[in-house]
Amino acid sequence: MLVMKFGGTSVADAGRIAEVVRIVKRELEQDSKIAIVVSAMSGVTNTLLDCAQLAAAGRYTEAEASCKELLRRHRITVLELIKDAIRCEELLKAVEDIIDKGCVRLCYGIHILGEASPRALDAIASVGERLSARIVAAAMQEVGLDAEAVDATELIVTDDNFTDATVQMSQTIEKTRSRLLPMLEQGKIPVITGFIGATSEGITTTLGRGGSDYSGGIIGCCLKADAVWIWTDVDGVMTADPALVPNAKTLPEISYSEAAELSYYGAKVLHPKTILPLLTDSIPLTIKNSFRPDLPGTLITACPNYTGKDIKAITAIKNVSLVTISGRGMMGVPGIAAKTFSAVASQNVNVLMISQSSSENNICFVISSSEVERTCNALRRALEVEFHHKHVEEISVQNDIAIIAVVGERMKGTPGIAARIFGAVGRSGSNVIAIAQGSSEINISFVINKQDVPRTVAAIHDEFELGL
Ligand code: ASP
Ligand code: MG
Repeated sequence: MLVMKFGGTSVADAGRIAEVVRIVKRELEQDSKIAIVVSAMSGVTNTLLDCAQLAAAGRYTEAEASCKELLRRHRITVLELIKDAIRCEELLKAVEDIIDKGCVRLCYGIHILGEASPRALDAIASVGERLSARIVAAAMQEVGLDAEAVDATELIVTDDNFTDATVQMSQTIEKTRSRLLPMLEQGKIPVITGFIGATSEGITTTLGRGGSDYSGGIIGCCLKADAVWIWTDVDGVMTADPALVPNAKTLPEISYSEAAELSYYGAKVLHPKTILPLLTDSIPLTIKNSFRPDLPGTLITACPNYTGKDIKAITAIKNVSLVTISGRGMMGVPGIAAKTFSAVASQNVNVLMISQSSSENNICFVISSSEVERTCNALRRALEVEFHHKHVEEISVQNDIAIIAVVGERMKGTPGIAARIFGAVGRSGSNVIAIAQGSSEINISFVINKQDVPRTVAAIHDEFELGL
């Protein structure tokens, strides 16, 4: 049993969907049970969310025009793909209906209210996947495959944290198995909407942007799949961003932890939560390029084969800021770190990296630049007493920085890796502002000036001969 998830660029138009059908047909020769998960056609989720924002801002006519454009794009795709007259007519009606109810009328409601609630945003964002799942299923039927579109609102149960809902796995497993297993037994191919779920009351939610990968992992877990494949538009996980390092290579195999670390630290191939549901049963995950389906891609498992390299990949995260809380009186005063990070958490801000030296004169951490202002305001409020007593003297922010994360499972217990990394960084002429290493020892991350990113990444890549 195989679960294959196709991303937005893999279903972007009629030609791409025809390729999806070819890929599925070919895999059916190896495995008779396949479930498909699809993203919205590329760009559609953005357009839908823009429509909602336009409507909320009183620009309903523009929102309506955008909905019409979406309808046109999906209609063209249907007309190009579906030659069977009845199937084509039925599908066009379904597409019009989904866009009319889920998009045009909803935008009107948002326009009247003058506000797009998170719940309304999820309702509108779900339209893209509901359309693509139906179109892909119909395209498969065209070539005689017994495919059926399934809305994940029937399968994936979440809480009501709209726009970033949390999945309730036990209920999801039960619902998914009872809905999909009989279909698979009968030789049907379910084509499931990625990205969306529903509360136990049946209200549509989404799993966060880019969440279709995660849907693929969830469905794979529920069905106890032998493998999950994520089809995207790159050859797999790379040793570094090829825009920074021309000789960056696709990694044939990495471990779950390396994949988690890399996706968390900005390698955009995979949604960070994707592998979570796959861990319990060690279901292997492969990332493949639907534009070059014959390439092997990157295989992600618990124990990948040793490649002879101690580190696997280097990523850089930009658009982040370093916040430093300092004061000579901080030394030995308990509770400042606790207050600091409670204040950060109260703003729902994610901390990417923390570092404190043992002299305890400062604590620094990295967060997304867009969240700096409100975080610093919250910190000033939370540390008012410490400022008064001069335990804390300053909260400073550095904006033009980046985090470099060097990832590799083999770093664990191998001495000398950090020396080689920082030797290479030093020789490249970059200054290191802060360093952190988690005790899992599979990632060393450090902060440098943004303009030093290309040469730093290239220097580490060369030092460990990752391009060879
Ligand atoms: N369509 C959704 C998005 O653009 C989910 C996905 O493609 O993974 O965020
Ligand atoms: Mg994606």
